[in-house]
Amino acid sequence: MFEQEKLSYDYKALEPHVDARTMEIHYTKHHAGYTSKLNEAIAGTDYEGKTIEEILAVAGETPAAIHNNAGGFYNHNLFWAVMSPDGGSEPAGTLADRINEDFGSFEDFKEQFSGSAKLRFGSGWAWLIKKEDGSLAVTSTPNQDNPLMDVVDEDERGVPILCLDVWEHAYYLNYQNRRPDYVEAFWSVVNWEEVSRLYENS
Ligand code: MN
Repeated sequence: MFEQEKLSYDYKALEPHVDARTMEIHYTKHHAGYTSKLNEAIAGTDYEGKTIEEILAVAGETPAAIHNNAGGFYNHNLFWAVMSPDGGSEPAGTLADRINEDFGSFEDFKEQFSGSAKLRFGSGWAWLIKKEDGSLAVTSTPNQDNPLMDVVDEDERGVPILCLDVWEHAYYLNYQNRRPDYVEAFWSVVNWEEVSRLYENS
């Protein structure tokens, strides 16, 4: 049985950038829904007992109920972890060096990531991934797909270390149609310590 990661902050902790009502509905309804539907969909199949990474790696050969809910389960766990009420500021250490090397500067990286989040048509996610050769790249995926899935182009695959949910359910109550404002506010809550940890451990 897959279980949602516990939030390390309360629903209102990310205000004013992410409002409490959105956080609560997002966690207790949307993410909880993906999680329970994933558990239902894998029950009694060969996928029961596999890790989420193993399921994502073969998402393309699974029924839509597993493909979509496995993505929804994994993506939100990462999303909660890369935000913090103590977030914002800038990355440090080896991650900062690698960002400078691969994007030119932190500002250039932010612009690329924000652009990717703003331009994603319809529902989806923006990602910072660590590729097999250790380099970083910004990508985006539709729906609940992610860069660990076999359905994603090979050159856009890697280990996600930062993500941003751009489904309307992630921002509509507070920002309505103003996705760009939500994307800009995200930078105030990014938990760079966790992103660094993920970079170094992947
Ligand atoms: Mn979501």
